[in-house]
Amino acid sequence: MKLGKRLLSIMVTAFMAAGVAACTPTPTTTTTADTTTADTTAPAGTTTPAGTTGDITFKPGTYNGEGQGLNGPIKAAVTLSETAITEIMLEHTETEGLGDSAMDTLIEKIKAGTTLNVDAVSGATYSSNGLLEAVTAALTAAGADIEALKGKAADPGEVIGDIEKTTDVIIIGAGGAGLSAAVSAHENGAKVIILEKMPNVGGNTLISGAAYNSADPGRQEAITMTDLEKETVEGILEETFEDPMVKTWQETLKTEWAAHKDSGKTSLFDSPSLHKLQTYKGGDMQGTPELIDILAESTYPALEWLEAKGMVFKDYIFTVLGGLWNRAHKPEKPLGTGFIQTYQDYIEKNAADIEIMLETTAKDLILEDGVIVGVQAEGKNGKVTLRANKGVILATGGFAGSVELRNKYNTKLWPDLTNIKSTNHPGATGDGIAMAEKINAGLIGMENIQLLPMGDPETGSLSGNIEQGVQNRIFVNKEGKRFVDEGARRDTMTKALMEQTDSYMWVIVDKNSYPTGDTINNFNESIDDLVAAGRAFQGETLEELAGKINVDPEAFVKAVEDFNKAVDGAEDEFGRTLFDKKLDTPPFYAGARVPTVHHTMGGVAITKDAQVLDKDGNIIKGLYAAGEVTGGIHGSNRLGGNALADINVFGRIAGQSAAMGK
Ligand code: ADP
Repeated sequence: MKLGKRLLSIMVTAFMAAGVAACTPTPTTTTTADTTTADTTAPAGTTTPAGTTGDITFKPGTYNGEGQGLNGPIKAAVTLSETAITEIMLEHTETEGLGDSAMDTLIEKIKAGTTLNVDAVSGATYSSNGLLEAVTAALTAAGADIEALKGKAADPGEVIGDIEKTTDVIIIGAGGAGLSAAVSAHENGAKVIILEKMPNVGGNTLISGAAYNSADPGRQEAITMTDLEKETVEGILEETFEDPMVKTWQETLKTEWAAHKDSGKTSLFDSPSLHKLQTYKGGDMQGTPELIDILAESTYPALEWLEAKGMVFKDYIFTVLGGLWNRAHKPEKPLGTGFIQTYQDYIEKNAADIEIMLETTAKDLILEDGVIVGVQAEGKNGKVTLRANKGVILATGGFAGSVELRNKYNTKLWPDLTNIKSTNHPGATGDGIAMAEKINAGLIGMENIQLLPMGDPETGSLSGNIEQGVQNRIFVNKEGKRFVDEGARRDTMTKALMEQTDSYMWVIVDKNSYPTGDTINNFNESIDDLVAAGRAFQGETLEELAGKINVDPEAFVKAVEDFNKAVDGAEDEFGRTLFDKKLDTPPFYAGARVPTVHHTMGGVAITKDAQVLDKDGNIIKGLYAAGEVTGGIHGSNRLGGNALADINVFGRIAGQSAAMGK
């Protein structure tokens, strides 16, 4: 685990170094992804060589220091020569791909400038501050002049200047959608530049639970279908739909379901048709059938595409929160790091053709004669003007992180969202929506904002969530009572939670979810660590757990007993249909959760080829979009597990369309 963590960290650093180097202008900036040479207009910066101290000197040696990170202590071993910080080695448990990547960035800056005058990386403040604390402690132990190091300019070798470049395809945003688009565009013959405003790639994928929905007969073979699941399929077949394409899905499902029953199979039934119908119904029939059709047909081919690039999914399938069906795939690597690393591996191998410019914020799309031909951006040190021979792809994600945009568009579904936290990374501020609006792009479903009942009460993030799939856990309120079908849609569960005391609930699981104390959740946290940190509670009996979480023991025990009866076949009070094992094996665990803003279903209108449409439904030439910045796929409510499917499927399509100049 440690080694894997370190390896990923090194990889991310390598990419970040490549990206940062690429966007650091010199008087003759040329990068491999260019088809034309940069034109640098600003004067050269300071000539002090990076990495030396000027008049600060050290006593050579290796010194140790410790700081406090997000997940625990950060230990630093800092090696000094007489004039430079030559090495910083770390021991830590910060979040893979995010906290450790931020720390790698800071280490590069500290070493390059021989300075402590570096800012925390946004989105990874705890890890950044913990690292600075540890390095400062080590330098103090070395007797270094801390005040002088804090006052010294960062990276004096850096040069200021504007950048101009031309490439084939420009991608705005290096989250899952942007990276998959980059790989796909390159596979289709394009040279690519990716702009990313944050200091690290990965966006929300990196911090997600990483569930990926796809019908997958091979992996689903191991799951036994329950009677309630059979009733669900029969129920969908009995419904009446207006849309002609949706009717064809139903016809296909009818044939497939009959064949499944005739075969005498006892395994779980699934197919793209069922996935389409559940996605459409789950979004209140507001999703665009043409896009849903592509989504569900392409998830398995996209999964194979990822696997061919080295991505490893576990063999088993699970039902993710609000996913409604047992079709979520779980990557072998923690959180969404497997997706991002797979794309990064490809990009690293093809670094001559794909460039990532970090800390570079796209501001405007360049429109000439009705065609999008480039992007105007702001880099760390000046303006960045990029021109695209073939196309620009918007992959900037959603706006869950912008309270202003949430409040602007939240007109129907939710009460005021000002004080609700978000699961998202700090870059999810809807920049792409603003850029698209300026060039008259059509927006669709903007009022459809998704909340989850699964936020950490302190931060709103998904980390600390102790559920291991839908079937084997219940929710209880502060009174110790269940209040909703815990297998329902995400909006249904969140609305029910908002009606409980303080909008606060406990997720309850037992040993079946955590056979050992070092079993980890979807966020790479062990249950023992969560309990030790006071983020989860453990009881050998239900009564003991009730005491620890301060709920009425009698009501709590009854809630669990009633649930266990429903697992045995009794009718569930809340109409729940997804069950597996009873909650009857100690130790029992509880983790607190509150509502949190998770996903914005609305966004830029696209065709099935990911071309952006204008307000009148005409294609805007040269502009493509993929991922959470787009609207029209998920309708009013996105199924759990469909986001990673969406960004990989439509990222891949957008990359291909742009490279082919569709
Ligand atoms: P998706 O899931 O659709 O890939 P994410 O939110 O995960 O969406 O990723 C979007 C990425 O785009 C994030 O890394 C975010 O920092 C980046 N981004 C957002 N706005 C801009 C912008 N104006 N310029 C460059 N990058 C941006």
